[in-house]
Amino acid sequence: MATTRMVITGLLEKRSLTALELSRLAGVKEKEVYQHLSHIEKSAKAKGNRLKINPYACLSCGFRFKDRKRYHPPSRCPVCKEERISNAVFEIV
Ligand SMILES: [Zn+2]
Repeated sequence: MATTRMVITGLLEKRSLTALELSRLAGVKEKEVYQHLSHIEKSAKAKGNRLKINPYACLSCGFRFKDRKRYHPPSRCPVCKEERISNAVFEIV
């Protein structure tokens, strides 16, 4: 039986997806997806691939969370304090 991590990896190798889409497709909680992503990033690297992240962005000022080391969404924008943040999109390339 394929593990959740394998399922998520398989999905990300085919197309780019948000954590919410991954949680629906893999049948796990969104919170769990973020936990798996750090391991998935390491295994991708070991295979010579990379977890590409199209970063979270502030919907008000457009600030992009490019240097974010964590996978879950930021609570607010550090520039304008706006709380509406667009989703990051993950993909294995
Ligand atoms: Zn902002």
